Formats: sequence, C-alpha cells, structure tokens
Amino acid sequence: MNIKNEKIGFIGLGIMGEPMAKNLIKAGFDLIVYNRTKSKTASLKQLGAIVANTPSEVANNSKYIITMLTDSPDVEEVILGQDGVYQGIQNDSIVIDMSTISPNVTRDINSKLEKKKSFLLDAPVSGGSWGAVEGTLSIMVGGDKKAFDKSISLFEGMGKNIVHTGPSGMGQTTKLVNQILVAGTMNAVAEALVFASKSGADLEKTIAAVGGGAAASWQLNTLGPKLIQGDFEPGFMVKLQQKDLRLVIEAAQEMGVSVPGTSLVNQFFVGLISQGLGDEGTQALVKAHEQLSNIKARV
Ligand code: NAP
Repeated sequence: MNIKNEKIGFIGLGIMGEPMAKNLIKAGFDLIVYNRTKSKTASLKQLGAIVANTPSEVANNSKYIITMLTDSPDVEEVILGQDGVYQGIQNDSIVIDMSTISPNVTRDINSKLEKKKSFLLDAPVSGGSWGAVEGTLSIMVGGDKKAFDKSISLFEGMGKNIVHTGPSGMGQTTKLVNQILVAGTMNAVAEALVFASKSGADLEKTIAAVGGGAAASWQLNTLGPKLIQGDFEPGFMVKLQQKDLRLVIEAAQEMGVSVPGTSLVNQFFVGLISQGLGDEGTQALVKAHEQLSNIKARV
C-alpha cells in the first residue's frame, strides 16, 4: 500500500498543527482537516485540503488520522467523545497523536482503539513552532512498531529526528524526559541572564561568549536573544510548558521518583500564569527571576 495514495486526516490546527499540516501537503499528501474554531482551516483549504465538520467525519474518510491538541482531556474528547474519531473510525486505522499528554491516558485510548482493530501511536514532538514550520521536528514515537513503520513517510514530512522509543505511552514518556531537560535549561538561562544583568555585563556579548561553549543550548542560543530584546511572543506558551511539568510531576509521583528541580521551575510557571502571562513564550520565565532580584535582563 502506498500511503501517498491515502487521504490523511489532521485535527488541531494551532501554532503547531497548522504548519505541520502544511508540510504534509508540501510533501504530496492529500489532507482532510478539522479544527474546532473553523476559521483556522482557511489557509489549509486554500492549499487544497478538504475541511470536515467533525472529527468523526475525518475518521470516516481517512485511515491515518493525526491529532495535535492541547491536553489529555482534549485528546480524549476529540477521539472518544461525541462526534469523535472513534465514532467514525474504520477498521485497521492508525491514529497518530502528536500532542503532549499523559502516558496513562495514551495507553487507555490505544486499548479502546484496539477494539476497532486500530492503533494509537503517541508521537509528541520537540523543536518548537520554528521546527514545525521548517519541518525539522524531533518526533518520539510509542506504540505498535508495524503501525510506526507504515506511518514513517508522514513523520518524515514533518520532522527530521524520528525515533520509535517503545510500546504505547513510551513516546509521551520520552517527551516528559525532554521537558524536564528543556524547563530546567530555560530556568538556568533566565537565572544566568539576570545575574549577568545585575553584574553590568553586556548581555549580547555574554550570550555570544558562553553560547559557543559547554553552556550552549537551544534555550540560550535561540530564546536568550529574544528574551534580552523583550520579545515574549510565544513559540511555546508558558501555560503549555506548565501543563507538561504537571504531567512530569504526576508521572513521577506515581513512580515514586523525586523531581525537585522540575517542581521548583513548575512553581515559577504557575506564578507567571497567575500574573496573566500564560500566553507568552517560555522565555518569559525570566520575569519571575527579574522580580526576585529587582532588575531586568534587557539590552
Ligand atoms: P495551540 O496553538 O493552543 O493549539 C491547540 C489546538 O488544539 C487548536 O487547534 C485547538 O482548537 C485544539 N483544541 C484544544 N482543545 C480542543 C478540544 N477540546 N476540542 C477540539 N479542539 C481542541 O497549541 P500548540 O502550541 O499548537 O500545541 C499543541 C500541542 O503540541 C500541545 O500538546 C503542546 O504541548 C505541544 N507542543 C507545542 C510546542 C510549541 O512550541 N508550541 C512544541 C512541542 C509540543 P481551537 O483552534 O478551536 O482552539
């Protein structure tokens, strides 16, 4: 079966989903799309995608259905809820959930789909909205290996570093590992730049000097320059980062694993959301450190 002849379903055209769907069209796939807020389907329609009225209609017309939604309850609603994917699904379908959600919820949805001889692949991504636009996302995939092999050309249309990490739920678990690393690094970048600012250092030169050595990171080299310019536009929103840290803390508690560093950074993000900054990019973490030390880290 040549997957290029299949119609591909795509549900959730937000900051990430819209450019990912566009890249699939660029890669030669035929798409049927759904978004809760219908106006966001316009750019895909212009590129030739069919627009469905419900997730169920998407599933009824495609055997490969990608979801890119916010949180676990949203994925449950779109797949298992009224007019959801499950209602329209055909036997032998593959649902690919690229949202970041709970590994347990993932396994639960996968076992329900198995009743329809179908699979859920959990395939969360890393690389930010820039990676979604450029088609360079890292994709960590859990679930049935044969379903993964069948879907590989879809993943290649959206990303570069594609790894099958294990059975159902293991893609999400790998993503939570990623988020421990990403949030901890962002916290170190924010703290370091406030320290540099209070010391009277030139912030651009500081990033240039340390960004090429052992302290180099995507957070420092990509988000650092935005942060010191006062650019808090989201690639990845504070409220989504906090959601991911909640998922880490919940999973860690279930396993009896202590995550003290992640818990501290989570508290900073909770505080930012309380201050109405949930829709800003994660580089806004610096604002928590700026308040503590009463100095801004800006050029
Ligand atoms: P977003 O811009 O807020 O998009 C969320 C999408 O989900 C929208 O299309 C929204 O529809 C839809 N949605 C949410 N709840 C729904 C529900 N109950 N029913 C139907 N549709 C629903 O978020 P995003 O940045 O694209 O992130 C999507 C996922 O990718 C999240 O799990 C996030 O953690 C993960 N992620 C994001 C980034 C990043 O840099 N942004 C990076 C890696 C991973 P409406 O348009 O109607 O609201």
